[in-house]
Amino acid sequence: MKEYSKPLSLNQVRIRDTFWKHEMELVRTRMIPYQWEALNDRVPDAAPSWCVHNFRAAARLQARRRAGESWKYEVWKGTFETLPRTGEEPDENAFYGFVFQDSDMYKWLEAVSYSLMQHPDPELEKTAAEAVELVCSAQDPDGYLDTFYILKNRVGAFSNLKDHHELYCFGHLTEAAVAWHQATGRTDLLEAAERYADCIAMHIGLEDGKKPGYPGHEIAEMALMRLYEETGEARFLDQCRYFLNQRGQKPHVFLEEVNAERARKEEKPLEEDSDEKLFAYYQAHQPVRMQKEAVGHAVRAMYLYSGMADLARLDGDEEMRRACETLWHSTTRDKMYITGGVGGTHVGEAFSRRFDLPNDTAYSETCAAVGLVFFARRMLQMQPKSEYADVMERALINTVLAGMAMDGQSFFYVNPLEVDPEACRTDKRLEHVKPVRQKWFGCACCPPNVARLLSSLPQYAFTATQDRVYVHLYMAADAEVTLGGKKVVLHVQDGWMNGRVHIDIESEGADGAVCVRLPGWCEHPSWKSTRGEGTVENGYVTFCGEWKTGDSIDLELPFSVMCLHADWRVREDAGRAAVQYGPFVMCTEEKDNGKDLYMLKICPDSLQAQVNQETICGMDLPVLDVHGKQIVREEDDALYTPWHRRREEDTRVKLVPYFAWGNRGGGEMRVWQRTE
Ligand SMILES: [Zn+2]
Repeated sequence: MKEYSKPLSLNQVRIRDTFWKHEMELVRTRMIPYQWEALNDRVPDAAPSWCVHNFRAAARLQARRRAGESWKYEVWKGTFETLPRTGEEPDENAFYGFVFQDSDMYKWLEAVSYSLMQHPDPELEKTAAEAVELVCSAQDPDGYLDTFYILKNRVGAFSNLKDHHELYCFGHLTEAAVAWHQATGRTDLLEAAERYADCIAMHIGLEDGKKPGYPGHEIAEMALMRLYEETGEARFLDQCRYFLNQRGQKPHVFLEEVNAERARKEEKPLEEDSDEKLFAYYQAHQPVRMQKEAVGHAVRAMYLYSGMADLARLDGDEEMRRACETLWHSTTRDKMYITGGVGGTHVGEAFSRRFDLPNDTAYSETCAAVGLVFFARRMLQMQPKSEYADVMERALINTVLAGMAMDGQSFFYVNPLEVDPEACRTDKRLEHVKPVRQKWFGCACCPPNVARLLSSLPQYAFTATQDRVYVHLYMAADAEVTLGGKKVVLHVQDGWMNGRVHIDIESEGADGAVCVRLPGWCEHPSWKSTRGEGTVENGYVTFCGEWKTGDSIDLELPFSVMCLHADWRVREDAGRAAVQYGPFVMCTEEKDNGKDLYMLKICPDSLQAQVNQETICGMDLPVLDVHGKQIVREEDDALYTPWHRRREEDTRVKLVPYFAWGNRGGGEMRVWQRTE
């Protein structure tokens, strides 16, 4: 079987990069402690999470049950979100929040684990160990672990796989468990995840007496692959393969769930073929190998495709790999924003039709960009092509980073490409768009997702096989890898933001290849190495040989200011251009350019840009000063008047990196600029 590359262990990489280290430190020093407070409902003026509350209630229930004491179970109500009634004190034994609230705890534990691997912190480890103990003590004796149903005496458990996220919470539990095991060597959470996996397998599958189900919100697929890789237990690989192959098969298990509900309400059942797009929201409208277009809820789609790519890799399943490639193209060539965001419509937090990429009503959820990074890395593991790494970097550096404020304590869920705060405040259609980052959300999926991704950043920058190491993203780091059985350390020096990458090699004669990416945004890359000229394939330069200390690789990857236009079919961007500087998508903000950003024009044919450095919220960032036109606001005597060319004045237009927008007070923002 073909050998695919694997991410380096977090213990093998030390990040020193000025830019990326800053972001990672925000996560470690601000976000992780802040999230712990949020999960414990201790952040004033933020929506309560109820997450720790629910685990405590479930743990209390288990303790009483073990002691033979009675417990007053909650009455089953099929609600998606449960809150204390207005004016009533919360019941300490009741479940509150969304049905998937448990997942926030797991995402936090996962981020903590990654952080501990790179930055030991006994105090944090102790807090996390207590949280793990709490999670384990909430587990039912048969391995079931979902506080929503545990507190309702399991009435309704596994009855609504379509919407009730039990398998989603299982997925996050498992991701956390693997990370916790890798970080601390402790098996407590890993055993809890294995027991829950086995409990699920007792109830769900194709055997007699089981439900032929699969996750409504995907993630269990890729989590099971990690569990398999961590434990070597083939039953987890089988479980993942079953989930993926069963998805979208007929008779449709989600249709059966819908019809059971309709029967309760004495409504007529839906027919199997009533609507071919039924369940497209869940990517369950067809078997996954037949799917050609990225559809439905964007985060779910990204997690599903990531799981498919994992299975394709571990099974050497060529048909599945081709399905992944088709869905990759649909996602990135027809449906992705220039910022690497995906999900064009807030209706269902979903992909819209091809080339429908509205800027102001965009959804572009932070989690979906995180998911696209997951998908891209998995495609890279199968086939090192810079196309995948370019998208990974685009999503990461623009949308994922935009999801977190530069103080690490407030967050965007939705990432529009054009904002008018007044419209957001008054227009129902823009209700989902927030002009400033929010402290915490009742549905807080995005912030912990940013935390777990950024804490494990080295695993996206470097992957390796037995005799090859790939550098996909540039950042100053020391990365240790074994090539041909011997150790090599790559010392990547700081400087990529100035267009220079210097890598010093430390090795005692390791024989293998070092492959470095040529980013798509760099028009004129050049390189040299003590190991010869290198060969270029799929956007990577490969240097081979026996590496000795003193060897080095130098890349010149100069940033340039580029004006880009969108495919003509993207009607929202017709007559507009976006500006990119190196990997950074740039935007205009009211703070620098005044109100009514739509009255500004830039001249892509003769863009004279000056690149400056500016400190924004403690970070040195490139900002652009370009020549443009300001359309003069004339007094019109009516809404419509005979056409005449409006007066324009020369002006300077300032652009800042999109990810940093909204950090200097609220105001208008725009990525796609009007053009001459
Ligand atoms: Zn989210």
